[in-house]
Amino acid sequence: ALRQLAAFAFQPAVTMDGFQVEIAANIGTPTEAKLALEQGAEGIGLYRTEFLFMNETQMPSEEKQFAAYKQVVAVMGKRPVIIRTLDIGGDKELPYLSLPKEMNPFLGYRAIRLCLDQRELMVTQLRAILRASAFGQVKIMFPMIASLEEWRQAKLILEEVKISLTKEGVDFDPSIEVGIMVEVPSTAILAAQFAKEVDFFSIGTNDLVQYTLAVDRMNEKVSYLYDHLHPAVISLVKNVIDASHRAGKWTGMCGGMAGDPLAAPLLIGLGLDEWSMVAGSIKKVKQVISRVTRQECQELLHDVMQLATTDEVRKKLEQFHKIKN
Ligand code: PEP
Ligand code: MG
Repeated sequence: ALRQLAAFAFQPAVTMDGFQVEIAANIGTPTEAKLALEQGAEGIGLYRTEFLFMNETQMPSEEKQFAAYKQVVAVMGKRPVIIRTLDIGGDKELPYLSLPKEMNPFLGYRAIRLCLDQRELMVTQLRAILRASAFGQVKIMFPMIASLEEWRQAKLILEEVKISLTKEGVDFDPSIEVGIMVEVPSTAILAAQFAKEVDFFSIGTNDLVQYTLAVDRMNEKVSYLYDHLHPAVISLVKNVIDASHRAGKWTGMCGGMAGDPLAAPLLIGLGLDEWSMVAGSIKKVKQVISRVTRQECQELLHDVMQLATTDEVRKKLEQFHKIKN
C-alpha cells in the first residue's frame, strides 16, 4: 500500500472527471526546495523568507537575500515560486530588530505592518526578489494584509522598486504576479474588493483559523477549539475562492488545511486552484484527489454548507473519505 501511495507523488493532481489542480510545497529554506521536488511538488506555493532573517545576527544584505531566492528559483526551473515577504513578529522574533514586547503579539506589530513601517527593509527585500525573478517564474506575496490600504501601499513600494531597478538597468520580470495572503477575516470578507486589484490570493488557514475563531494557534489549552473545519472558516474560504473566480483570478491555499486529506474533497468542490503544503503530504493529497469526481465534491460541498458545527462537518467528511478510500 505504501508503494502504491508513493506512485502518486509524480502524478498530476486530477479528479476522475478531469479537474486538475496544482500541488505545491511550503518551504522555509533553499535546501528544502530540492526535497520538495523529490516529493512531487509542482511549484513552491509559500517560501517563508523569515527563516533567512531569523538565522542571522544582523539584517541579511540584498546580495545575501538575492543568492537565497535565486537558489530556490534555480532548483525549481520553470515551476512557479511564490516568495512571501518578511512575516516577522507574532511568535517569530528578530533579535537585531529589538521589537517591543507586546501584550498581544499576534494582533500587533507584525508582518506587513512592520515592513510598511520599516521601508528600507521592505525595499531591500523587494529588490532581491525582483532580481531573482529574472531567472524563473517568481511571484510575490504579502502576508497579513488586513485592509486595501495596506495592499495599495505595499504595491506602490513594489512599483517604485521596479522603477529604480529599470533605471539601474537591472533585469527582472516586469510582469511578475503579485498577490496577498488571506489570513485575516477582514480580507476574506472583502475578497471581492481585493480581487479587482491583486493577481492572486493564497489563503493562510493557520492564521485565518486563529483570527476567525479567536483561538491562539500556539495555546494548547484552547487547541481543542482550533479547527479549519469550523463552518465559519469554510464559509470564508468559499467567499475568497468564489470572489477570485468571479474576477478571473486564481486562489491558492498555503495553510494546514491544504494538506489535510479529509478537507481535500471539500477544496475540490470549492475549486481551489493551487494547493501548497508540507512536502510530505503531497502524495497523499494527490491520491485522494485521484479518487473523486469534481461533481460529487460539489455535491458534498453543498451538503457541508448546510451544517452548523465543526463536529457535523468532520463527520460528513469522514463518511465521504471512508467511501472513497
Ligand atoms: C498561515 O497563516 O496559514 C500561513 C501559511 O502562514 P504562517 O503559518 O507562516 O503564519
Ligand atoms: Mg500566517
